[in-house]
Amino acid sequence: MTATLNIHMSSCLFCRIVSGEITATIVHQDEQLVAFQDINPQAPMHLLVVPRRHIANLNDLTEEDDAIVGNMVRLAADLAKLRGHSEGGYRTVLNCNANAGQTVFHIHLHVLGGRRFLWPPG
Ligand code: 5GP
Ligand code: ZN
Repeated sequence: MTATLNIHMSSCLFCRIVSGEITATIVHQDEQLVAFQDINPQAPMHLLVVPRRHIANLNDLTEEDDAIVGNMVRLAADLAKLRGHSEGGYRTVLNCNANAGQTVFHIHLHVLGGRRFLWPPG
């Protein structure tokens, strides 16, 4: 394991959830991705889909991450479908940096459902 990865694992909240060091209600995990319940849910369904690998936010994505991002989006759709939200609809959100309100700097896809959402967002 590289030194950089060690630093991320000790300081990044979602790296610590991925490694099991911090508990979360995990709803899916595979080789690449982990999905868990948001600790402060904003809707009846509020899941976070994260890659196991530390990526701070959208600004750090490279072409090599295309498969990860594609799989994150497809997993969000699968999880929403499993919970019965496909037909009624649901919202997916990727916040990037301060203006969007990003608070955890490990890329995460919010998957929200079970109520109606406003547009434009606040
Ligand atoms: P952001 O504002 O960065 O887009 O979203 C961060 C999300 O992480 C928030 O919705 C917040 O409730 C969630 N969160 C923060 N700390 C924890 C935690 O320790 N466990 C879980 N499961 N979610 C967290
Ligand atoms: Zn991380």
